[in-house]
Amino acid sequence: MSTKEAADHLALIPLKGRGRGLPPLVHPEIAPFWNSVAAGRLSLQRCKACGTLRFPLAPRCHTCLSASYDWEVIDPRGSVNVAVLNPSAPEGMPRIGLEPPWQDVTPYITGAVDMDCGIRLPGRIICDCNQARIPGTRVRGVILETTDGTPVYGFAHTCVVEVDAPA
Ligand SMILES: [Zn+2]
Ligand SMILES: [Zn+2]
Repeated sequence: MSTKEAADHLALIPLKGRGRGLPPLVHPEIAPFWNSVAAGRLSLQRCKACGTLRFPLAPRCHTCLSASYDWEVIDPRGSVNVAVLNPSAPEGMPRIGLEPPWQDVTPYITGAVDMDCGIRLPGRIICDCNQARIPGTRVRGVILETTDGTPVYGFAHTCVVEVDAPA
C-alpha cells in the first residue's frame, strides 16, 4: 500500500525497511495499547471518572486515582517537541553507548511528540531531510518493524509519509 492511500486520518502508516529496533516488553495491563498499534491505531486510556486522557499508561488515573478507564483511539498526528539524532555507534567501547540492534539502525532520530490530543509521546522519528529535528515540525504516527516482528509505533515526517492526510 502506498503512503498516499492511507486508510483514514487515524491510521498508523506501516513503514518497511527503516531499521528494526527492539520489540516492546508488554505487561498484561498495557497489552491493549500494543494490540491497538498492531491494528494500526494509537490508543490511550481515558479516565471514566474525571475524563482525563493520560500517558504514561497506568492502572489508575493520576488526577483522581480512579481505576476505571476506557481505551480511546487518538489522532496519530502531532508536532515535534524535542528530537535527538543518534548518528553512529561508538567503536571500541563495548556495552557503552548503543546496544544491539540499535547500532545497525543508526543514524536515527528519537524524541518526543506533542500529539494533537494534548499528550506527549516518546518515539523514533523517521525523516530523510532532517527537518523533523526542528521543534514544532509536524509528524504522523507510523508502524515500525522490530527484531521479532512485533509492530511498534513511531513517527514520520512529511518527507516520508503524508502527515496531514485528509480525513
Ligand atoms: Zn480521573
Ligand atoms: Zn524529513
